[in-house]
Amino acid sequence: MPQAKLTDRFGRTVNYVRLSVTDRCDFRCVYCMAEDMTFLPRQQVLTLEEIARLARNFVALGTEKIRLTGGEPLVRKDILELVREVGTYGLRDFAMTTNGSQLPTMAEKLHQAGLHRLNISLDSLDSEKFRSITRTGNLQQVLDGIDAARDAGFRGIKLNTVVMKGRNDEEIPELIEFARRKQVDISFIEEMPLGEISEHDRGLALCTSEEVRDIIRQRHELIPVAKDSGGPARYYQMPDSDVRVGFISPHSHNFCSTCNRVRVTVEGRLLLCLGNEHSVDLRRVLRGNPVTDDKLQQAIIDAMDLKPERHHFSSNGEVQILRFMNMTGG
Ligand code: SAM
Repeated sequence: MPQAKLTDRFGRTVNYVRLSVTDRCDFRCVYCMAEDMTFLPRQQVLTLEEIARLARNFVALGTEKIRLTGGEPLVRKDILELVREVGTYGLRDFAMTTNGSQLPTMAEKLHQAGLHRLNISLDSLDSEKFRSITRTGNLQQVLDGIDAARDAGFRGIKLNTVVMKGRNDEEIPELIEFARRKQVDISFIEEMPLGEISEHDRGLALCTSEEVRDIIRQRHELIPVAKDSGGPARYYQMPDSDVRVGFISPHSHNFCSTCNRVRVTVEGRLLLCLGNEHSVDLRRVLRGNPVTDDKLQQAIIDAMDLKPERHHFSSNGEVQILRFMNMTGG
């Protein structure tokens, strides 16, 4: 039996896996996708059983934290079955990233199925701006989804906002007040150069975490939170609130030295780094004959040697990685 620990060449332990369950999405966020996307044919996409098998084997190798993502995980048919199954694996943390559009009808079912936490993307509180950023999204549906998640009993809710200059940076104070009112955490993300887009110039739109903090500090003191979240965000707290404010800063603060994560795309490609192409085709292993769990685990262990030391995103918006975030699994 392989050892129950995933360690890379730089001594980092990998205990967090993000599994993409679909490349499809009902939104077309301008920083994430091109307007006219072609999605994968079904036979290239892992079945829910294959995704569950991967999850189970990662857990056998010491994974404590799994996040389901995409694409939009809630548009994958029968997603609740996968959540129910992975919910039995005894994870310390079992989370999902969603755009929130399906939460009005699904939040309660997800909670009952054993999901621990939700990250919900929210880039604007203005319905027209929200529509222009997501291209197809309806703000009210997402706001109702956030309420549905709270009503369902989810406690670890976090909002994710990708900040773009001239687009939604003016809304930062309002988003902070919204998070405080709803008692949910919020993270501000620097836009990453993943996939080629023509809708805006990523270099010009980049709003650094430092700039976002300066805006928030005009109204609130931000006190760094010492505890490591186990993810890429650095957290702060305001003196008069329990709400945490996170910053994901792939440009201005490289989080690679403590990286504990890998991703699996919905095609079964194990990506060792968000900002590099190093990967291993686990679908080939899964669909090989015969495939034993030992063989699968050995392929995962061997892949750790490919995990690069760090990524190098440049801040001029130049594309370095051709895959879009919906393919990567955010
Ligand atoms: N559909 C879900 C959602 O909207 O949250 C999950 C998938 S989405 C790809 C995951 C996260 O990645 C979202 O918070 C989204 O805002 C973020 N994201 C997508 N493209 C990005 C980019 N180029 N730079 C930074 N964040 C990005």
